[in-house]
Amino acid sequence: MSLTNPTEELLAALGADVVILDEAARFGASFDNARLSFMPEALVRPRDEDDVAKVLALANRHSVPVTPRGAGSATTGAASPLKGGWVLDMSGWKNLHIDSDAGLAYVQPGVVTADINAEAEKLGWCYPPDPSSHKYCTIGGNIACNAGGMRAAKYGVTRDFVMALEGFLPTGEWVRWGADLRKYASGYNLRDLWIGSEGTLGVITGAVLKLLPKPEARATFLMSFSNEKVALEASRAIIGARLNPSIMEFLDRQSVRCTLDEGLVLPFDTETVFAPALLLVELDGAADAIDLAAGRLEALMKGRAVAFRRAKSVDEAELLWSVRRKCSKAMFRIADGKLNEDIVIPPRSQDALIDFTLELKERTGLATPIFGHAADGNFHVHIMYRRRVAEECALAEKAVAELMGKVVELGGAISGEHGIGLSKTPFLRLQHSEAEIGAMLAIKRALDPRGILNPGKIFEPFRVWEHEIVRVTLPWD
Ligand SMILES: Cc1cc2nc3c(=O)[nH]c(=O)nc-3n(C[C@H](O)[C@H](O)[C@H](O)COP(=O)(O)OP(=O)(O)OC[C@H]3O[C@@H](n4cnc5c(N)ncnc54)[C@H](O)[C@@H]3O)c2cc1C
Repeated sequence: MSLTNPTEELLAALGADVVILDEAARFGASFDNARLSFMPEALVRPRDEDDVAKVLALANRHSVPVTPRGAGSATTGAASPLKGGWVLDMSGWKNLHIDSDAGLAYVQPGVVTADINAEAEKLGWCYPPDPSSHKYCTIGGNIACNAGGMRAAKYGVTRDFVMALEGFLPTGEWVRWGADLRKYASGYNLRDLWIGSEGTLGVITGAVLKLLPKPEARATFLMSFSNEKVALEASRAIIGARLNPSIMEFLDRQSVRCTLDEGLVLPFDTETVFAPALLLVELDGAADAIDLAAGRLEALMKGRAVAFRRAKSVDEAELLWSVRRKCSKAMFRIADGKLNEDIVIPPRSQDALIDFTLELKERTGLATPIFGHAADGNFHVHIMYRRRVAEECALAEKAVAELMGKVVELGGAISGEHGIGLSKTPFLRLQHSEAEIGAMLAIKRALDPRGILNPGKIFEPFRVWEHEIVRVTLPWD
């Protein structure tokens, strides 16, 4: 019997345990945290590398789109199967081995990021990249998006920890980039090309990650400032004083207000002192070095901060961090629509960004809360709007376009950690010249001649606003 339908051929080759056609399962894999749904023809859960090779061979033969997937927590639509086809779900690949003598972690792509650090810490090591989604997202998705996190300030992003990658080219050939060696200088560095390529250049089936010694101690500080510009000037002073914080998070007054309105009770007079703008700082290292640095930090903040608090216990530190952890969700107190743009801005342009967002708020009437990673300039600028009010949707769409234009004008970047996916495609040409995009597309064509791997992402302009957002509750909501 000849099988003409590629999905039937895949099913016959791999079986119903691997090739899942059930509608509810396919729907679950049809969107990510951007909530833009595109139904795949099949959800494929490969058991091993042979299965991955077969999927890609068949996809190439029949030009079927294949979208690799981890936990589906991408905020840009990167993991949604825009052109249908098959979703290649790697979240079940969970092997994790730590070689303590070498300070390396050997991981499969489905390992949840927080588990890597938890296992490393048991052996006195740590894996610093800590996206806020670390309890859900997978290392495969982190590598594909080059995920950042709060500790990127001191330690860097996912890319800085990936020593080797293995997996499949879109054509179905197995490759290994880099090695589990501390030094490697052989051939082109295609490992770094895969990192951040959003599942468009290869399927990751394994990685070797570098670990660092776990810091001996950590200390948390909360400081409040009379306004956002004073807080940001203080953050620049901390960097200039070479205090090298492991985390330095900024919250503007709109973000702080939302969090406090959620009922969070801090051990301070929140009305008079803590409502304006905040910095949350973590120092890590040897205990005596932290005490020394804490003294320098407090002295530096004199005349700048309205209040300065060092957490007295682990519980109090947790309480202070909960301001930051809760603010993203708390923003839905303002409106049920939120656009979260993870822009990056150089230190010299921080004041201009604050002026711009306040002016935007004033002009459009839409709230524009900002929080984010002050040490590396990666701020999450939000545009809040009511989804059922057509004028507000139109205003929000325009506001995002203005924001992106401004960010590039200020010498910044349209994304610091979430990537382009679908939602940022309209702005790619603000950031890159035609020559740059042409070079990227030439690489894509060379590695994926049939254009089967995660097609439509990064390069094809997509209008989010013309697409219905699915209303679902996700594990991280
Ligand atoms: C509440 C929340 C907080 C977040 N905080 C942060 C943050 O602080 N920092 C940050 O950087 N991001 C953050 N994110 C975004 C998201 O969690 C990250 O982008 C994460 O890296 C995605 O991992 P995932 O396993 O969910 O991947 P998915 O969403 O499933 O996939 C993301 C991309 O990776 C590709 N991909 C997945 N697995 C593979 C594989 N094995 N081989 C090839 N390509 C693959 C997919 O095709 C897709 O393009 C947050 C998201 C949420 C919902």
